[in-house]
Amino acid sequence: MKHVDHVGIAVADLDEARKLWDVLLGQTPVLEDVPTQKVKTATYPCGIELVAPMSPESPIARFLGKRGPGIHHVTLAVDDIKAHLARLKGQGVKLVNETPVKGAGGCPVAFLHPVGGVLVELKEKRSK
Ligand code: ZN
Repeated sequence: MKHVDHVGIAVADLDEARKLWDVLLGQTPVLEDVPTQKVKTATYPCGIELVAPMSPESPIARFLGKRGPGIHHVTLAVDDIKAHLARLKGQGVKLVNETPVKGAGGCPVAFLHPVGGVLVELKEKRSK
């Protein structure tokens, strides 16, 4: 694992949440729809990602229903996501995504089952 890429925060309404976070961070986020995860995201350069559901079937909608808004996941950047998934599986770590899916920014991502209550996402960011 290279470093923490971002912290994902579940919000019900992206525009509403941005009123607070744009001011707090003093930054303008990159906005993106991620249909594979049924979410809309607003990613700030400092590494905060707001995640809002696109539909009631979105995992984020279920999270909000159960736990309300707040920290949803921590994302770790890796060089070779497939190698890490194979290693983790071999070590008995439970994976949500056995094969990577396309996440925000078009990067391959995969979620692990929560570890100590923390949902961990791996994101492939190959160093040039
Ligand atoms: Zn994320």
